[in-house]
Amino acid sequence: MIHLPVAVAELAAALDLAGSLARWLASTFPQVEVAGTSVSTEDAQQVRHWVFCDRITPERRRCLLRCDHHGECLPPAEPGG
Ligand SMILES: [Zn+2]
Repeated sequence: MIHLPVAVAELAAALDLAGSLARWLASTFPQVEVAGTSVSTEDAQQVRHWVFCDRITPERRRCLLRCDHHGECLPPAEPGG
């Protein structure tokens, strides 16, 4: 596991940035497990705020919509699609 601290003042902004970073890194490094991305505060690192929904979709893929998304889960887009 690589823990990559990034300081962001607001939780919502941190979740947005973490999601963007994870997707960007995963586009270059297939080792990155996007769905496992989480955010925690510096003084409570055991409390993890998940960035992505991560439920299994009917297509047996992991949903990469935001953790608190409304509506049905969607599979991640195919690379290049
Ligand atoms: Zn979902």
